[in-house]
Amino acid sequence: MEKPKKVFNVERGLFDKFGAPGDVSELLTDWGTCRRCELCEGRRSVVLGDGSWTAKVMVVGQWPGMGEDKEGRPFVAREGLNIKRWIHGAVPENDIFWTNVLACRVKEKAGYGAQLRREYMEECRPRLEGTVSIVNPDIIVALGTHAKNAFLSTSASLSVLREVRHKYKGKMVLVCINPAALSRQRQAGADKRTLAALEEMVISDMQFLSDAYQEIKGRDNNEES
Ligand code: SF4
Repeated sequence: MEKPKKVFNVERGLFDKFGAPGDVSELLTDWGTCRRCELCEGRRSVVLGDGSWTAKVMVVGQWPGMGEDKEGRPFVAREGLNIKRWIHGAVPENDIFWTNVLACRVKEKAGYGAQLRREYMEECRPRLEGTVSIVNPDIIVALGTHAKNAFLSTSASLSVLREVRHKYKGKMVLVCINPAALSRQRQAGADKRTLAALEEMVISDMQFLSDAYQEIKGRDNNEES
């Protein structure tokens, strides 16, 4: 079997850095050099995740971009950092675990259609589920349509599903507009009114997340006292 070019997460011991629990090594063994779908052909790193393994909040995006593929960590390039800034307004960094629906980069120009992406997501699904079960977060933040589809079996649009507390295997799922949509719309030349409406929705989603997080923190504090 051909070896992947590089698996940064494994080489850097990224998981050790965050005090990963024992069953993470199983996840690394199973997925650290994964070739289950053809995205392995164009990737540099398998981007499994980053953050606190005891986080109350797991943020799930779509897939790593070029910068993330290079670094081997999710949400570290321009758009990812922008998303982090928004999320940090609602939840502190030490209570977040970051990952994506797909662990390998999707090269936009490679002509991957929607059907193929669905197949890749099915292949990568056990990895996402394994990560959810290790981190065991109280809240899953599904950023955008692909993440929403990973946790909720509904074809309803984001606008209908956001600002509602959904459930996935006993965990709260909040569907949010991906803040990256703001910069994409800006680049696409969207008018001021469209951008303002989108920004309003992102702010509102972050407030909804903040309220849910504070509620869970308050509940946990009460149980401890
Ligand atoms: S996207 Fe997921 S299933 Fe496909 S090669 Fe990467 S880790 Fe494996």
